[in-house]
Amino acid sequence: MNIENLMRKNIRSLRPYEAKEIKCRVKLDANESPYSFPELLEKALSVKTNRYPDPEGLALKKAASRQWKIPPENLLLGNGSDELIYYLILTFGGPVIFPEPTFSMYGIISKAIGVKAVGIKLDKNFDLDTEKFLSAIKKHKPKLIFLSNPNNPTGNCFSTDRIFEIIRATKALVVVDEAYQPFSSKNGFIPLLHEMENLVIMRTLSKIGFAALRVGFLISSADIIKAVNRVRLPFNLNSLSQTVAIEVFKNYRRIMKTVKEICKERDRLYKALEQLPGVMPHPTEANFILFRVGNASRVHRALLKKGVLIRNMTPLIKDALRVTIGNPEENNLFLKALEAVIK
Ligand SMILES: *Cc1c(COP(=O)(O)O)cnc(C)c1O
Repeated sequence: MNIENLMRKNIRSLRPYEAKEIKCRVKLDANESPYSFPELLEKALSVKTNRYPDPEGLALKKAASRQWKIPPENLLLGNGSDELIYYLILTFGGPVIFPEPTFSMYGIISKAIGVKAVGIKLDKNFDLDTEKFLSAIKKHKPKLIFLSNPNNPTGNCFSTDRIFEIIRATKALVVVDEAYQPFSSKNGFIPLLHEMENLVIMRTLSKIGFAALRVGFLISSADIIKAVNRVRLPFNLNSLSQTVAIEVFKNYRRIMKTVKEICKERDRLYKALEQLPGVMPHPTEANFILFRVGNASRVHRALLKKGVLIRNMTPLIKDALRVTIGNPEENNLFLKALEAVIK
């Protein structure tokens, strides 16, 4: 039996998102938080495991709604924002446009669903090339545009004016993926929701200490939420995650303190990287730093030998590595290992 022939054509050349578990002492490859909050799991013990979850996740929507000052009708919950990317493309189709380099799931999911995906190269500062974007919008007439802001894996925010220009120039939905907004100096786009009807925002709990829960939020007009809700699986967010996520919002201020700590460490690490010969860190507003170094693949392997796992961005970005900000001890171990490796 030939499984390849049985598959839809677009799946044959599709490669799964690579997320291997590699054993290491210091894990700084996946933009996770170094801090976890086991005490928030206590409430999960009272979850009735024989019952299906709340299909709408109403209590969690209310908690998020209070935090972000938007009505619950403007929210949809996802099993991570990955699932929401999936639902958006399933609902609205393509062409889908996104900058390059960016988060790989926009392209992978477009391909899995079978819609056209168009990547537009960022400019030399990794900002949006509006001229290229506007002509791609004219040419391809996209249904969806994804902008990760701050952008993964480059770390910078795009200029707000350029994002506005794109939102104004298109009838497509513009999805501003704010997975890293809590680490950024910018306010984010939630306050602008009511001014721009084709604006969609995504948030997630994954980067602030709760990657294990898989909780993402779609924030948009009630009409867009209703449309996407048509393709949503009935119980997409399990009860344990819903329950703990409500606790996250109850403890939001405390969690944001750890975000502040991570930002402080990021700025320290950035300065230390700048001092290393042949290492060029790129300015960042996220919980990771992209840096260039001669022979990135070799440096990456040598770090792993010393028990330090970071992300090799070659060939997507030539000779670039991405390191997630860990706790101070992890960051020091990383710095020491890198220093030894490039010597
Ligand atoms: C990590 C990441 C996500 C995935 O978030 P989940 O909620 O864990 O699915 C989405 N977008 C970007 C840009 C990311 O880096």
